Amino acid sequence: MSEVKIYFNNIWLAFYTAAVGMRRTFLHLFTPAVTIQYPDVKLKLPERARNRLYVNIDDCIGCDQCSMACPVDCITIQTIKGTPDQDLGTTSTGQKKRLHVPLFDIDIAKCCYCGLCVYPCPTECIVMTDVYEFSEYDRSNLIYRYSIMTPQDIEQAKEKLKKSEEEAAAKKAAAATAAAAAKLAAPATSAPAAPAKTEPINPSPDAPGQAKS
Ligand code: SF4
Ligand code: SF4
Repeated sequence: MSEVKIYFNNIWLAFYTAAVGMRRTFLHLFTPAVTIQYPDVKLKLPERARNRLYVNIDDCIGCDQCSMACPVDCITIQTIKGTPDQDLGTTSTGQKKRLHVPLFDIDIAKCCYCGLCVYPCPTECIVMTDVYEFSEYDRSNLIYRYSIMTPQDIEQAKEKLKKSEEEAAAKKAAAATAAAAAKLAAPATSAPAAPAKTEPINPSPDAPGQAKS
């Protein structure tokens, strides 16, 4: 092949290969896009999507069942018993609250979104939401604190419980002392009873094993 022919052949090949590539590009102009302009556009999540947890602390009775169900120990709960004279209210599902919840933390950085904490909750106050955008620069910001008790509230609740327990213990001790004193003061009212007189056994002649005369 002459050099001139090779030269024009190369020019033709360059145009041809470029046209093949541009054909694919041109066809994509008329194909519907499969991507979206996130974050300006967001896909609708499935109804049962499991993402960030939320706790309605007003309905929490501090039963600890969610924490016990969690396979990665990312829920930490502390409670303080209410005293008998305290009314801590009821949940929206009608259950009486008997415990203060001074600490209810979820370390969402550890959470694997399994949802196992949601099912055992008797008041349905821990739920998985569809919120999935909660990245943070500082890992400590991923510990969500749900308790609404202030340090003063916690101190008061502890003091009240301590006082109530001390009063109950004092009442119990006083009752035990009074019972012991009453036992000691009781007079000896009767002499020991004489043993009952026993009659000789007179078996019936008809009894089995007796010889008849
Ligand atoms: S979703 Fe699973 S891992 Fe996350 S807090 Fe609940 S039980 Fe624990
Ligand atoms: S299971 Fe529900 S009620 Fe019990 S501690 Fe957890 S969130 Fe509160």
